[in-house]
Amino acid sequence: MHELAITQSLLAVALDHARGAGVRRILSVRLKIGELTGYVPEAVEMNFLALAAGTAAEGASLVIEAVPLRCSCRKCGREYPARPDDFTCPGCGGGDIAVTGGREMFIESLEVET
Ligand SMILES: [Zn+2]
Repeated sequence: MHELAITQSLLAVALDHARGAGVRRILSVRLKIGELTGYVPEAVEMNFLALAAGTAAEGASLVIEAVPLRCSCRKCGREYPARPDDFTCPGCGGGDIAVTGGREMFIESLEVET
């Protein structure tokens, strides 16, 4: 249930932004959720709907885009999509890798009514 806390802070960011921009209503929120975060999009959406009730984001639709896990090999420089259970470089079989994508979680854009 760790989605609740993260959803709360996402909603707070969205509402903050809306307030600052003189927005009447938030129509939709586009989110990016990295595969490695472990957040379940459905759970985030459920929490969002519940938390948004009574705020400027009430009834807003949530568009969630999953960001796949990507790695880059420090040995041969190859960039590749990886599976969470296997980070090994497909180019050289090396294990000295850096995660370059899939750990992020952020609001990409908001659609609002002013
Ligand atoms: Zn490699």
